[in-house]
Amino acid sequence: MSSIKHLARETVQALTPYLSARRIGGTGDVWLNANESPDCSEYQLDSSKLNRYPEFQPHSLITAYADYAAVKHSQVLSTRGADESIEILIRTFCEPSADSILICPPTYGMYAISAETCGVAIEEVALADNFDVDYQAVENSVTKVDSQVKLVFLCAPNNPTGNILDRQKLIALLQATKGKALIVADEAYIEFCPKLSQADLIAQYENLVITRTLSKAFALAAIRCGFTLAQESVIEMLSKVIAPYPVPAPVAQIATQALSKDGLAVMFERVKILNNNRQLLQDALQDIDCVTEIFQATGNFLLVRFKDSVKVFAAFAKNGIIMRDFANKPRLKNCIRITIGTEAEMQATLTTLNSL
Ligand code: PMP
Repeated sequence: MSSIKHLARETVQALTPYLSARRIGGTGDVWLNANESPDCSEYQLDSSKLNRYPEFQPHSLITAYADYAAVKHSQVLSTRGADESIEILIRTFCEPSADSILICPPTYGMYAISAETCGVAIEEVALADNFDVDYQAVENSVTKVDSQVKLVFLCAPNNPTGNILDRQKLIALLQATKGKALIVADEAYIEFCPKLSQADLIAQYENLVITRTLSKAFALAAIRCGFTLAQESVIEMLSKVIAPYPVPAPVAQIATQALSKDGLAVMFERVKILNNNRQLLQDALQDIDCVTEIFQATGNFLLVRFKDSVKVFAAFAKNGIIMRDFANKPRLKNCIRITIGTEAEMQATLTTLNSL
């Protein structure tokens, strides 16, 4: 019997340990379970000032991201991955044991995990039958008299279903919830469909927050670098809660290079290749007998429903191909999420499926 377990907060005692991408899915050489990019670039590191604390928000990094996202310098906060953006938002805007966040499942799991670790309640408005956001139900939840919802998390492209947001309905929701709650649009995968970004709405709506990451299209999951975009008033609140030196200097150096003109060109080329590989996979899947449904293709992943996903998952695992199984999630029975990798990895995926 542990003599310290009872000392932890009750909410923490009840949690199951979080499983990272490197610990789920099995063993193999083809990693298609965490929506990472398959290639890796090289970066220069200057270690001459590592004895000094870094800047709170490295100026050149913030400037580079603000330019890339077409927002003001003062509207950007860099964080340890988008996951930290999510947590800081909850810690800043939700009173534990009083306020709640609203999520639209099936969606990205960290909104609920962060809320749970912070002791913040979770309200759910399920995605509609076609997996679109039910905007009216979200609005009703936020605006009802006794609502405790302070943050609404909308993921677009939604991980894992690929759904996107309806701009006019988002604007109506922003207007209806003004002064009551913040609407967070998680744009982790937006580089794969850049025209669908809502970042330009930040200028007009104080209750809009956008979260972004360098983990996906920028192929930098290992450096843990994300961004929160919002009006100055929101960034100011978040700055009070975030750690004193959230972005290590080597991370800032690498991220700034990735956001340079050359770095961006590499990213745009990668997106072109991955979107092309996604199309190849999508086309080929249409003709495969064990496939019953292919979800919306918008990010660097594709959610696929099979006749028998247990059999399919086992076949992938046997061939060393690691996928993300969603079969146990409500409404995603028999679904597997396939990260878009190299053309060879997509061919290996198809070879396995064709062998069934
Ligand atoms: N949002 C979504 C929708 C994601 O899928 C992920 C990563 N899987 C994140 C945020 C977190 O990204 P990061 O690596 O920057 O923490």
